[in-house]
Amino acid sequence: MDSRVKEAVRYLGYGRHAVDEKTKGLVRDSFEELDRTVQGRLVYRIFELDVPDDGRVKIEDLEIASRNLAKNMKGCRRAVMLGATLGIQVDMLMKRYSLTDMTRALVLQACAAAALEEYLDEWQEKFKNEAAGEGYYLRPRFSPGYGDFDISHQKDFIRMLDSAKKIGLTMTDGCMLTPTKSVTAVIGMSREDIPCHKKGCEECKKTDCIYRRQ
Ligand code: SF4
Repeated sequence: MDSRVKEAVRYLGYGRHAVDEKTKGLVRDSFEELDRTVQGRLVYRIFELDVPDDGRVKIEDLEIASRNLAKNMKGCRRAVMLGATLGIQVDMLMKRYSLTDMTRALVLQACAAAALEEYLDEWQEKFKNEAAGEGYYLRPRFSPGYGDFDISHQKDFIRMLDSAKKIGLTMTDGCMLTPTKSVTAVIGMSREDIPCHKKGCEECKKTDCIYRRQ
């Protein structure tokens, strides 16, 4: 199985269980359909960062109370905030299938989640090389809603990135991003070279790392 198919199967909740050929075929078809539909867009900005020793993170006028984020960002001098979306067409496709074929809609949902991660990983790999050219190393991506990083901070990302205007990314009153297959995240930039795992601390074997997020 190629890695994106594997990831989508994991999102579908198969875990270690074997996945049947029919589902695998559905996953492959869904990725093909997504490849024709996705209009990935991403906006990012780099800010000076302050991480005082009290469980807060300050990015310009934004103050975030999150011990998990503060731990992960400790020692970082800059932060890159980003917003990314697969576009509204993906929502329309998912809606269409949810009315006609629920199984396909669920598979598509999982594939779109995997495609979004893949899109971000690819961007991050390029950005990592650019940052390295300036002597900065990246910590893992951290999104509002993760650990004690309050999901309501998504509105700050949308404001600071001007993402509604730049890439059509907004949110509802209930803090749901629209289009739905979108993400906001922040990445710490440090002068210290810690070879972070692409998939974040959860997949990283360095269990004694002092920046490890819980
Ligand atoms: S645990 Fe791994 S991924 Fe997480 S901050 Fe440490 S080195 Fe980076």
